[in-house]
Formats: sequence, structure tokens, C-alpha cells
Amino acid sequence: APRIGVLALQGAFREHRQRLESLGAGVREVRLPGDLAGLQGLVIPGGESTTIARLMTDFGLWTPVRDFHAAGGALWGTCAGAILLAREVVGAPPQFGGHQDSLALMDLSVRRNAFGRQVDSFDTPLDVRGLDAPFPAVFIRAPVIERVGAGVEVLARHGDQIVLARQGNLLASSFHPELTPDARLHALFLKMSAAPTPA
Ligand code: GLN
Repeated sequence: APRIGVLALQGAFREHRQRLESLGAGVREVRLPGDLAGLQGLVIPGGESTTIARLMTDFGLWTPVRDFHAAGGALWGTCAGAILLAREVVGAPPQFGGHQDSLALMDLSVRRNAFGRQVDSFDTPLDVRGLDAPFPAVFIRAPVIERVGAGVEVLARHGDQIVLARQGNLLASSFHPELTPDARLHALFLKMSAAPTPA
């Protein structure tokens, strides 16, 4: 089984760790650049994307995570983590000048807190391409993926909004697969992490 890191600065990292371990993966919590050594995949959990971004600056993680991916490492961003993977972030709070730092690795445009106050949090069964039964998806102040580039495969929509997408060994989900017992998306990420990266 591949060795997987879970970015453990803030947010729902313990749940990811437990789910990956239940599938037999070796899991390491990542806080410092050196923690990335020897890993095949990294999960960026849900939480608060501006907080995670600030801590990534404090811990000097931006370039090491980009280098990790450039060297073939798989990345999965859930909720706030999906925001951090996106090339473009829309709807960042005005106190940040409407701008939000991100890794800009996935050709996505992501809108923060896109479901609005009325439907802050909800769960719904989701049809996911490649899965033969609906996935129970938990959305918590979730972003939506407003635009995907040509190299991005849309794996799930909620209504007409994109909520799961893949680009090579990059995966982004608006929802929180670590908060339901269904392990199929974690299993998919393990497979993506174990696969040799196309040259
Ligand atoms: N609303 C959060 C953000 O914009 C994401 C919420 C979550 O990760 N559950 O960062």
C-alpha cells in the first residue's frame, strides 16, 4: 500500500488519517516540509482555507508541496483543500482583498461558500462517475467548482454544480468523504497515489 500524508495544520485531518489507515495505507501527519519525504500522496483536508493557507506560509510548505507534486506525488483536496488546489479562487473575503493564496495546481475555478447561508450544510447521495452506487456526500460551507479546464474530468455534480473533479493524479472534492463511513473515494485516492505518474 502507498504511504500517504495528511496535511495536519488545521481541520478534519484525523478523520482522513483513520479512513486511510482502515484501508491499509501507511499514514503520516504532515506539518513540516521534511514530512513529505517518501510519500506517494498527500491529502489536504477540509477546514478553513484562509487559516490553512496562513499556516502553510508559516511552516514554509508552499514550494515543498508544489515540488512534491512535480516529483509525481498525488494530491487530494477536500472542501477547503479543494480551494487550495485551484488555479483560481473566487469569492475570497474582502478582508483579504478578495484574493486567496492557493497552490494553483489544478485547472479549476472554485467559488468559496457557494451554497449560501440558507443551505450552509447538507448531505445528499451523489452519483459519481466510476462508482456503481451513490456516494453519501456531506457538504459543510462548501465551495463549488465553477469552471474546469480541458484536462480536468468532472466526476460528480450536485444539480448543475461540479463537486468532484480529477486532473491526472490531482483530485478535488467540495464535500467531506472522511465524515461518512463510505471509503470508496479514499480507495480511489490510494489507487491514484500508487499508480506510476505518466511521463
Ligand atoms: N468554507 C471553508 C473555506 O472556504 C471550507 C469549509 C470546509 O472545508 N468545510 O475555507
